[in-house]
Amino acid sequence: MRFTDSHCHLDFDEFSASLTELLINCAASGIQRIIVPATEPDNWLKVLGLCAQNNSGQAQRPRLLPCLGIHPWFLSELSQQHLEQLTAFTRQHSNKLVAIGETGIDGVIAEKEDNLSKQIAFFEYQLQLAGEWQLPVIVHHRKSHHKIIPLLKQHKSPYGGIIHAFSGSYQEAKTYLDLGFKLGIGGTITYDRAVKTINTVKRLPLSALVLETDAPSMPLSGFQGQSNSPLRLINVFECLTRIRQEPAEVIARQIEKNINEVFRLPD
Ligand SMILES: [Zn+2]
Repeated sequence: MRFTDSHCHLDFDEFSASLTELLINCAASGIQRIIVPATEPDNWLKVLGLCAQNNSGQAQRPRLLPCLGIHPWFLSELSQQHLEQLTAFTRQHSNKLVAIGETGIDGVIAEKEDNLSKQIAFFEYQLQLAGEWQLPVIVHHRKSHHKIIPLLKQHKSPYGGIIHAFSGSYQEAKTYLDLGFKLGIGGTITYDRAVKTINTVKRLPLSALVLETDAPSMPLSGFQGQSNSPLRLINVFECLTRIRQEPAEVIARQIEKNINEVFRLPD
């Protein structure tokens, strides 16, 4: 079976000491591709460089696919000029990018930093940019489905994207599917207390789901206190096979198809 981690911050310092070894181990576990979202202007070049360097003729490593974007946690120092810079970077690197992200709205940060309107402005800009470049978007949410859904409806795009680290109700999930999005399934489902999300994941069509780790964030149940790793994608997958009725091979195959569909990659 082959897998894709649809969300991993490989550019973060946690990975720098032993990245090559980690990637070789990922490939040996069947992880054939890793999508690397960017979080702020300071790491765009690092994400692009890391992906380019790894992909240049390195067998036995996953293919790394870069995204560019501005995460809602990192807005305090940023202004309109950084959005324009994002447009310029996107134009310059459009042949390599697989998505815009990660972007989105974080309700907890909005309250703490009183910056909801800035978050909305940055999110809307990135939704429009993705549409112009015919790219999907990687969407961060936290206590914000009610803010994100109307904006996705308003900026409806045929290129859809991924609701990263999805947690929520069946109804919320259905709304995202109807808007052309797939749902990133990660460590959340490994926690027994995530009853609502687990029940949602059980009922959705397989065509709705992609796998992710969000490493180094979001450690799985049983691995708390450690930095998360893309290798844990296999544990997320195993957890998913216990939640779903279909045979593991069927789940794995469909989920890779879903990735190809979102990112327009060849089967
Ligand atoms: Zn992330």
